Amino acid sequence: MFEQYDVGIIGAGPAGYTAALHAAACGLTVVMFEKDMIGGVCLNRGCIPTKTILHSAELFKEMKSAQELGIYTEKLDYDFSKIIEHKNKTVNKLRKGLELALKNAKVKVVNTEAELLDKNTIKADGAIYKCVKTIVATGSEAKSLKGLEFDHKFILNSDDILNMTELPENILIIGSGAIGVEWARILAAFGVEVTVVEAAERILPLADTEISKRIERIFKSEKINFYTSVTVEKTHGEKIYLSDGKELLAKKILVAVGRKPCINKKIDGAIYIGDVGGEIQLAHFAIKQAIAEVRGIPFNKSLVPSVVYGCPEIAWVGLREQDLEDGSYQKSTLLVSALGKSHCDNCTDGIIKILVQDNKIVGAHIISKEASALIQQITMAIQNKIAVEKLREICFAHPTYSEGIFESLFKF
Ligand SMILES: Cc1cc2nc3c(=O)[nH]c(=O)nc-3n(C[C@H](O)[C@H](O)[C@H](O)COP(=O)(O)OP(=O)(O)OC[C@H]3O[C@@H](n4cnc5c(N)ncnc54)[C@H](O)[C@@H]3O)c2cc1C
Repeated sequence: MFEQYDVGIIGAGPAGYTAALHAAACGLTVVMFEKDMIGGVCLNRGCIPTKTILHSAELFKEMKSAQELGIYTEKLDYDFSKIIEHKNKTVNKLRKGLELALKNAKVKVVNTEAELLDKNTIKADGAIYKCVKTIVATGSEAKSLKGLEFDHKFILNSDDILNMTELPENILIIGSGAIGVEWARILAAFGVEVTVVEAAERILPLADTEISKRIERIFKSEKINFYTSVTVEKTHGEKIYLSDGKELLAKKILVAVGRKPCINKKIDGAIYIGDVGGEIQLAHFAIKQAIAEVRGIPFNKSLVPSVVYGCPEIAWVGLREQDLEDGSYQKSTLLVSALGKSHCDNCTDGIIKILVQDNKIVGAHIISKEASALIQQITMAIQNKIAVEKLREICFAHPTYSEGIFESLFKF
C-alpha cells in the first residue's frame, strides 16, 4: 500500500516550503518531508537568526553613539543570553506562522527523514509515497577545513555560534564571505576582539574590488583585524599558525568557508532545487527556483542580488567592474555622504556605484544604509533593460537613499 500525491518534496527549507505552498495554491496535492525543523537552515540556523542577533548588535552600537544625538542612557549594557532568547523567540514565532500557512494550504507535512528511491517514489519511516513529481530540496551544511574539523567547542560552524550564550574575549573567523563578515560585525559590536583570515586577496572576494577595498576600511574603523592571502595551517591549543608564519591566539574559531550540498546521489527525473543544487546558495535563489519549477515563471540567474547585512549594508547585482573590459563601460560613483538622508540618520559611510553599457545599467554595487532595498530598484531596471534616460524620468522621494540612484544617473 502507498499514498499518492501530485508533488512529493524532501526538505522544508525555503526551496521546499515555497514549492509546497505554490504547488498547493495551484490545486495540486503535496506531501513534504522534513527531518529537522520546518523552515530549514534559513529560518532556523541562517538568515533569520543571524539577522535578529545582528539587529541587537547594531542597536547596541548605535546607542553607544546616541549621546551625539542628544540621547542619554544611564548605563548601557547587554545580556547576550537574553539576545539569544529573543532570537529564539523570533525564529519560533516565524516557524509557527509557516507551519500554519502549510496547514492552511493543506500540504501534508511528514516530520521524518525521507529517501528518494526513484523519480516517483519516496520512502519515509517504512512507508512508500508515490508522486507524479518529486522535488529534492535537502539544502546544505557547513564545510569544514582539513585539520580544523568542528569540535563544536573551540572550532565552531555557523550553527554552533548561533547557540553561544556567552561571548568569548576574542575569536578568529576563517573566511570573509557574507557569513564571516556578518559575524565579524556582530561580535565586534559587542566588544569581542575579532580577527578575520581570508585566503583570497581581498575581504568579501566575490564583491566588486572597489567595494572590497571599502569594506576593509570599514573593518579598520570598526577595529576588526584581518589578514588576506593567508590560510590557517594548524592549531595547537589556542595557538593558531598562519601560512605566512604569523602566530595568533584565539579563544574560539569560526570556520565560515562555504557550504556543501546535502546529497548522496542524483536520481534522473527528480528535480533538485535550492542549496542542494550547489549553484547560488542563497534563500531568494532557492525561492525563485521553486517558483520557476512549480509555476513555470522564469528568472534571470545572472541577476540574483547579493546582500551582506550590518550598518551600512553591502549589496550588489549584475556585473562587477573587474568583469568588464576597460573602455567598454561607463561608471558613476556617488558618496552616500552627498545625501541629506544619510546625515539625518547619522550614517554617512558608503558609496553607490553604477556601471552602464550601451546606455543601460549592467551592474550596481552599493554600501549604504538600506542597500538591500536600493539594489532591488536597480535589479528591476537591469532586468527590464530600462534605458538611463527613461530612469531619469522617474520621480524619487526626498530625503531618501534612493535619491542616490537618481543622482548617479546624471553622472555619466
Ligand atoms: C549563517 C547563515 C546565514 C545566512 N544568511 C542568508 C541571508 O541573509 N540571505 C540569504 O539569501 N541566504 C542566507 N543564507 C543561506 C540560506 O540559508 C540558504 O541558501 C537556504 O536556507 C537554502 O534553502 P534550501 O531550502 O535549499 O535548504 P535548507 O534551508 O538547507 O533546507 C533543507 C532542509 O532539508 C532537510 N532535509 C535534508 N535532508 C533530508 C531528508 N533526507 N529528509 C527530510 N528532510 C531533509 C533539512 O533538515 C533542512 O531543513 C545563510 C546561511 C547561513 C548558514
